[in-house]
Amino acid sequence: MSAPVSALTPAPAKVALPFLPMTRPFVDEATIAGVAEVLRSGQLTTGPQARALEAKLSEYCGGRPVRVFNSGTCTMEIALRIAGIGPGHEVITTPLSWVATSNIVLEVGAKPVFVDVDPVTRNIDLDRIEAAITPATRAIIPVDLSGLPVDRDRLYAIAKKHKLRVVEDAAQSFGSSWKGKHIGTFGDFVSFSFHPNKNITTIEGGALVMNDDREAKLAEQYRLQGVVRTGFDGMEVEVVGGKYNLTDVAARVGLGQLPHLEAFNAKRRELARIYFELLDTPSVRALGLQLPVADFTQTNWHMFQVVLPEERLTIKRAEVMAQLHAAGIGTGIHYPAMHLFKLYRGLGWKDGDFPFAEYTGRNTLTIPLFPAMTRADVVRVVETLTGILKAHQK
Ligand SMILES: *Cc1c(COP(=O)(O)O)cnc(C)c1O
Repeated sequence: MSAPVSALTPAPAKVALPFLPMTRPFVDEATIAGVAEVLRSGQLTTGPQARALEAKLSEYCGGRPVRVFNSGTCTMEIALRIAGIGPGHEVITTPLSWVATSNIVLEVGAKPVFVDVDPVTRNIDLDRIEAAITPATRAIIPVDLSGLPVDRDRLYAIAKKHKLRVVEDAAQSFGSSWKGKHIGTFGDFVSFSFHPNKNITTIEGGALVMNDDREAKLAEQYRLQGVVRTGFDGMEVEVVGGKYNLTDVAARVGLGQLPHLEAFNAKRRELARIYFELLDTPSVRALGLQLPVADFTQTNWHMFQVVLPEERLTIKRAEVMAQLHAAGIGTGIHYPAMHLFKLYRGLGWKDGDFPFAEYTGRNTLTIPLFPAMTRADVVRVVETLTGILKAHQK
């Protein structure tokens, strides 16, 4: 008797899918050609491209003054300097951010004061801010983690009541909005980052939105050695500035990215919706996986972050990441709680100070989300991740 055909047909060789990174910037061909033009122009560092980018960003921010810099970190440090914040002052912020957020407070000689996060939004818990205010408090740095905006109405009500400056760490929320207004179009200082992982990029870079021309002038001084030029030969220095200017090559990349912002963010929202469609189900919920806030109007979906249920898993997060990596899927951690880094422990913080930030920091996992992804990519991530979780339940 002959064997059934199916037993004779060799199984198709398993075709390895290409590696799916956690994120990947998209730079169009016109921008690449534009960069080549800048390179041929002889004007490589700060010049007309940087000024054009500032003009476009200012237009986006409702006409407010905007200056560009070579990182999103120095933009925030410069905002603190413009506000006159330094030794003897305290700045309130979240323990759950990229460590730049609190490093810059130390950099200007002030003291970061952390308050715990809201476990649902994973952003600073506004209910806890007032208890942390002392006579030394000068500013609040809220962070829109993964692009989800901190409640600006409540934030600015607290800031106004206590006469505090605000430096919005909007590194992740370019393109997000609050009650119909883009982040950056209102408020006090607003800082954006254009690192390649952010929703638009200048390779490295950042922008600071300010309140008036006096602040913008100071920003220019802090950006480049404190120098002020007048006429053909006049030069004066009044403050200690650094070397933070953005190159024209980088600015040209940013100019080519800006027109894509709305489409990039629309695609991110669409992919986030697919994640919810596949993850917000009774069977996945039963695994104990925590999903982000399902906001499809205000957030730019800079990242898609799940929080693993450590108490129900027999494997640690690093092993989940290793298994995803072995299956061709990249992930990231944003972020470990900052107060538990050695530098910060040395300044007095310890385990247990901010339980929600610590739990989230230990268990958060950023899964792939970037505009070039497809529905099939999302399905692949969800099936692989849930498969790993199901196989390792306590
Ligand atoms: C990216 C980022 C920064 C710093 O931006 P750089 O451009 O890398 O200096 C600061 N804060 C947060 C929350 C960020 O995500």
